[in-house]
Amino acid sequence: MKLTDIEPFKQIKKRFNRRNFKKRLVKLELFTEVIPDGVVLLDERYLIVAANDSAQRLLGLPDSAIGEPFEDHVKVPRLRNYMRGEAANKEPLEFTSPIQKDSVLESRVFDVDQKSRAMIIRDITTLNRLLTMRQSFVANVSHELRTPLTVVKGYLEAMTDPESSDDLRLGLIEKLVAPVARMESLVQDLLLLTRLESNPVPPDMHEVDMASLIRNSNHEVQGLLRKKDTLTIDCKTDKKILGLPKELHSVCVNLISNAIRYSPDGAEIVVSWEDAGDDKARLSVKDHGLGIAKEHLDRITERFYRVDMQESRGRGGTGLGLAIVKHVLRRHNSELKVESEINQGSLFFCEFETVERSLR
Ligand code: ADP
Repeated sequence: MKLTDIEPFKQIKKRFNRRNFKKRLVKLELFTEVIPDGVVLLDERYLIVAANDSAQRLLGLPDSAIGEPFEDHVKVPRLRNYMRGEAANKEPLEFTSPIQKDSVLESRVFDVDQKSRAMIIRDITTLNRLLTMRQSFVANVSHELRTPLTVVKGYLEAMTDPESSDDLRLGLIEKLVAPVARMESLVQDLLLLTRLESNPVPPDMHEVDMASLIRNSNHEVQGLLRKKDTLTIDCKTDKKILGLPKELHSVCVNLISNAIRYSPDGAEIVVSWEDAGDDKARLSVKDHGLGIAKEHLDRITERFYRVDMQESRGRGGTGLGLAIVKHVLRRHNSELKVESEINQGSLFFCEFETVERSLR
C-alpha cells in the first residue's frame, strides 16, 4: 500500500490542487523527519508502510524494513500484542528499548483508517528518571520529618500521662526544643531549595562586598563553635561581585557550619576570600576534620545524600545544605569544588567573576 492510498491523504488531496498537494506532502515528510518522536505507519497486515528517522533510530529499524512485517524487526512481544489490540482509548505502553537496555520507550497506536495504523514511539527515559527522583524526594522528606515527629509524639504522650509528675513534664518540655528545631530547619531548607529551583535568577543583581558578607556569616555560626575551635577569616582582597546577598550568605553559612560540624573538638577552620587572577575571586572554606572518601565526592551535593546518616543527624544536618550551595552557585555562574582526604580535612571552594568582569 502506498502512503497516498490512505484515506486521510485522499481527503487532503481532494482539498488541494495537484501542485499544492505535492508541496504539502514534501512539507509533511520534512516535518515527520525532524520530530523527535518516532512514527511508524502500518498496513492491515502490520507491514511497515513508512517509518521516520526517529522511529528507525529508537527501534533500530533498517531502511530495508519498509514493506516488511514489523514483528520481524522489533522483537518485543508486549509491543506486538499492544499493536494488534483495540486502538481506541488505549493507555500508552511502556517498554524497554529493544536496542538499548537502559532506555525506556513509550508507544501509542492510532487507527489512521480501516486499513492502517500509526504507531508513535517516544523516549521517556529522562521523564521516568525525573518521576523516580520526585518520588524518592517525597519519600526522603517524609522520612526526615517522621523521626523528630515520633520523638515529639512520645514526649507529648508522656506529658499528658496523669501519672507524670510536674518535674518530669517540665523536663520533657525542654526536650521538645531539639526535635522541633530540627523540623523547623528542615522545612526552611526545603522551602529555600524549592525557591532556588523554581524561581529564575532575578534581573537585579546587587554589587556584593564579599569580604563583609563573609564576616557577617561568621557571626551567624558563632553559636556552633565549641570552646577549643578556632575560626579564622582571611580576606586578602576587597573585590566585589554581582550577586544575590541572601543566597551568597547561605552559601557561606552552610560551608562554614559544615566545616565546624564535621570536625572534632578543637577544629581549625579558615575561610578566605582571595584574588584568583583574570578578574576572578575565590571563596574557600578549609577544615582539618573528618574528610570525605573519594567515592562520595561526586554525590555530596545531591539532596539528602550523606556519607554517614547517623553522623549527619547527630550533628544537626538536614542533608540539604550542599544541594542549596550547588544551586546558589549555579545561579551565580559558579560551581562548588571539593578537595578532601579522610581524617585530614576538606577544602570547599568556588570562584566568581568580579563586578568589573561581569559588567564588561
Ligand atoms: P548535612 O546536613 O548532612 O550536613 P550537607 O548537604 O551539608 O548535609 O552535606 C552532605 C554530606 O557531605 C554530609 O552529610 C557529610 O557527610 C558531607 N560533608 C559536608 N561537608 C563536610 C565537611 N566539611 N567535612 C566532611 N564531610 C562533609
